[in-house]
Amino acid sequence: MSKTKQKKKQSVLCQQCGDAFETSATTRVTMAFCKARCRKVRNKDLMTYVGPGERLVHFQHAAKAEAFLQTLPGLTVRLDLHKVLDTLEPNVPLPNSAHTCAISYVGPLTVTRVKARKDMQARIASGQLACGFLVYKRGPRKGTDAERNTFRAPGSKAWVNMHLPLASSEIGVFVDDGYDHYASVTALKLPNLFTVHFQDGANLLAVLPA
Ligand SMILES: [Zn+2]
Repeated sequence: MSKTKQKKKQSVLCQQCGDAFETSATTRVTMAFCKARCRKVRNKDLMTYVGPGERLVHFQHAAKAEAFLQTLPGLTVRLDLHKVLDTLEPNVPLPNSAHTCAISYVGPLTVTRVKARKDMQARIASGQLACGFLVYKRGPRKGTDAERNTFRAPGSKAWVNMHLPLASSEIGVFVDDGYDHYASVTALKLPNLFTVHFQDGANLLAVLPA
């Protein structure tokens, strides 16, 4: 490798194993994990459960994740993190915090993933959220509208909503500013789950059921 290329590298610590690794200082997406070991593991993740007490569970197999989701009753309020829940400070109580979770789509290898996880943990510690889910799949960027807006493969937000239980006596709500996430969950036609396409500048507290 030439010296001119090395000048554009920076050394950062892997968020999984703590080892230092070299990464490009100019890349568009900042990597969170070392190439030597952790990227190939974390790149297989479909979903991460972020629970109380800094509990983290990574799922790479759809059936195991689905079985786990089915053990989590009562999560009736399901909120996107970026530009939805994070329009509120982490310590602002919600009307139904004990039954509220965040669901965030992030790239599996990105620093954004680590930041989203830490943000969820702060909101769980404050009592604003019961738990959170990081998901790593969404409809293809260059796919048709129909593909993007009905995407429900394992690792998507729609897939989490399909498998989180909702008793017939419960009314649930899913709120997202991303149209494809909103449309894909709406397309499931889950009988007692309402969906809200959150608008820029809207007041989340006014959108949530009291
Ligand atoms: Zn590592």
